[in-house]
Amino acid sequence: MRHRFRYKPYRLPFRFPWRTAHGERREREGIYIRLEDENGRAGFGEIAPLDEFGTESTAEAAEICRALGDSPDDAQIEAVPLRFGCVRFALTASRTVAAPANTTARLPVAALLPAGRAALEVLPDKLEAGFLCCKWKVGVGRAEEEFGILDDLLSRLPDYVRLRLDANGAWDRRTAERWLARCAERPIEFVEQPVAAGNHDLLLGLAHDFPVKLALDESVVHLQAAREWQARGWPGIFVLKPALAGPLAELIDWARTTKPDLVLSSSLETALARAQIIHAVLAHDLTTRALGFGVGDIFGDRRWDGPFLGTLVDTGWVNAVNPEELWNAMN
Ligand code: MG
Repeated sequence: MRHRFRYKPYRLPFRFPWRTAHGERREREGIYIRLEDENGRAGFGEIAPLDEFGTESTAEAAEICRALGDSPDDAQIEAVPLRFGCVRFALTASRTVAAPANTTARLPVAALLPAGRAALEVLPDKLEAGFLCCKWKVGVGRAEEEFGILDDLLSRLPDYVRLRLDANGAWDRRTAERWLARCAERPIEFVEQPVAAGNHDLLLGLAHDFPVKLALDESVVHLQAAREWQARGWPGIFVLKPALAGPLAELIDWARTTKPDLVLSSSLETALARAQIIHAVLAHDLTTRALGFGVGDIFGDRRWDGPFLGTLVDTGWVNAVNPEELWNAMN
């Protein structure tokens, strides 16, 4: 079957700079796509790469879009190489007729706390709003300073609120060991990507040596990498950013078949891809852990942030996002 294919590259400024151990981001580049089949049914998708995570770049994704031309056939679409996880996510999403989300499932959303002392300033608002889970970015400042902030944070958290830490791979072995020894005595839900993605033996060693749960994020950008870590016997959690991981249907199939301990997380995509992901998570019951989508209003524009995302998300949020409206609104 041939399709009509169009795409719109976008560049959207963030409301505030986005700081992690990878550095600072001030804007998000991506591509909206529209694919219409021979019966006139149109679907929409979003390519939202994060090249610091080792995905294709937006420029490379645009090159693929150019190469697909105005009327690609199924074979051309399916021939997009595996490495282009973001492009494959968007193409598949735009060809999938999502079943109406008839589920009453709801999931908690993890509130993201900014790196450094700013976390302490933001925390009271998050608790007041009723978040049941918070995530704090570490590995940005000096460990000694962050240890102090961690204890200040924990002293202000009610017992029923969980705290996860995300080092974005910034620690060396010694720093990771010091952190994990500290976390062993504290109520931490899990520590995400303590050391760099490629350190297989060190990651497995740390996971076995310390009682705190560890999660892989940068190590498992593509679904294929998650499969490989499963085969290595990873005993912890997998944090997947579905917009980077490849076709959503493959992720769903993997999760339902192998039952990994899974956290689904945002890659700072707009509401278009986010709604497709949250729909899948709720409709297929992929996890019970809080979703990593509490990134707040990162664009400061309701169109791209989507409806206000509170402490719990259900299909009401998904159904309030209209992909065609977003496509039309994008320059
Ligand atoms: Mg992470």
